[in-house]
Amino acid sequence: MIIHHSKPTIDEEDIRAVGKVLSSGNISQGEKVKEFEKEYAEYIGVKHSIAVSSGTSAIHLALISLNIKQGDEVILPSYVCSSPYMAILYLRANPRIVDVSPSDFNIDVNSIKKAITPSTKAIIVPHIFGFPAELDEILDLGIPVIEDCAHSIGAEYKKKKVGSLGTLSICSFYATKMMTTGEGGMVATKDDDLCDTIMETREYDKRPLNRERYNYKMTDFQAALGISQLQKLNAFIERRRSIAEFYSEAFSDLPITLPLVKPHVSSVFYRYVVITSRLNWTRKIAKERGLLCEKPVWKPLHQNLANIKCPNTDFVHDHALSIPLYPSLKEEEIDYMTKTFKSLFAK
Ligand SMILES: *Cc1c(COP(=O)(O)O)cnc(C)c1O
Repeated sequence: MIIHHSKPTIDEEDIRAVGKVLSSGNISQGEKVKEFEKEYAEYIGVKHSIAVSSGTSAIHLALISLNIKQGDEVILPSYVCSSPYMAILYLRANPRIVDVSPSDFNIDVNSIKKAITPSTKAIIVPHIFGFPAELDEILDLGIPVIEDCAHSIGAEYKKKKVGSLGTLSICSFYATKMMTTGEGGMVATKDDDLCDTIMETREYDKRPLNRERYNYKMTDFQAALGISQLQKLNAFIERRRSIAEFYSEAFSDLPITLPLVKPHVSSVFYRYVVITSRLNWTRKIAKERGLLCEKPVWKPLHQNLANIKCPNTDFVHDHALSIPLYPSLKEEEIDYMTKTFKSLFAK
C-alpha cells in the first residue's frame, strides 16, 4: 500500500458542475465567478470577495490595494512557502522575515514587535497548517494585516472565521489545499475601496491605461468547481478533524509531540504535524513502508538569506513531520497508516 502525502478530493458532483459550464460555452470569468465570490464571502462572513487566478496573485493584489511600494516593509514569518515572499518582491518592497512560535508554528507576536519600523506597511499572517495565529495581539499593533488562509479556510479564532478579521485575507485553491479549483485564489475584505482597487487591478480589458493592470482572472469552470467544493467544505473539515482525533488517540503513547489546539481556536487540520527527534530516520523508514510523510515546509525563507536568525523556525524545520491527512483517505488506509506509524517506534 502507498499512502500519498496529500491528494485532492473530487467527486462526480464536482465533475458535473465543471462539465455544465464547459458545455454552456461561457467558460471565462462570468456569472459563475460572481456566484462563487458571493458564496465565499457569506461563508467566511466578510462583505467582499474577489476571485483570482492563484493564492499568489491574491497576495499581490492585496498588497497593491494597500498601496505597498518600493522601500516599504512587509513583515512575514520564515516558516511558510515562498509565495508571500515573492508577492512582496513583485512590488520591490522589502520582506521582513520573523520567527515563529514553537508551540503552534505560527508567526510570533514578539518577533513582529521587534521587526516593526516606520516603514512597516503590512503584516502577512498565515494561519499555518489550519491553526489560527494569535490575531488579536497582532491586530492590536495597528498595522494592516493580510490573513493568509491558504491552509485554514473554515478555522475559527475566538468563534469567528479566519479571513474575516484582518484588513484583508487571501485563500488558495491549489489542487491539494482545503478545497480546490485546480489553481485559483480569493481576496476578501470588508473595505469598499480596497475591493474596488482589487477589482480594477485584476483585469485589463476595455479599461483605461491609467494604472498597472494584470490578468489574474479565474475561469467560470474553475468557479463552478469552487462552488461545488465550498458546499462540501464543512464535511471535509469534519472528516479531517475526525482523522486527526483518531491519530492523536493512536499516537498518544509515542515519543513524539502531537499537535496542540489552543482552547480559543478551532483547527481545520490542513496538516497533522508532529515533532520528532528522529525526523530523517522516521521519514525514511515510513517511506520504505509506503507512508509518504513530508517536511511540511520545503525550506524556511530565512535559510535562503544571510544574516537572519530564526532559531524556533530552524528547530521546527529540523523536527516537524507531516503525516498524511485528507478527506479522501480511506478507512483501510488510515488503519494501515496508524499501525505502520506506531510500529516505527516499537522497541
Ligand atoms: C499555497 C499557499 C500560497 C500560494 O497559493 P498558490 O495558489 O499556490 O499561489 C500562499 N500561502 C500559503 C500559506 C500557501 O499554502
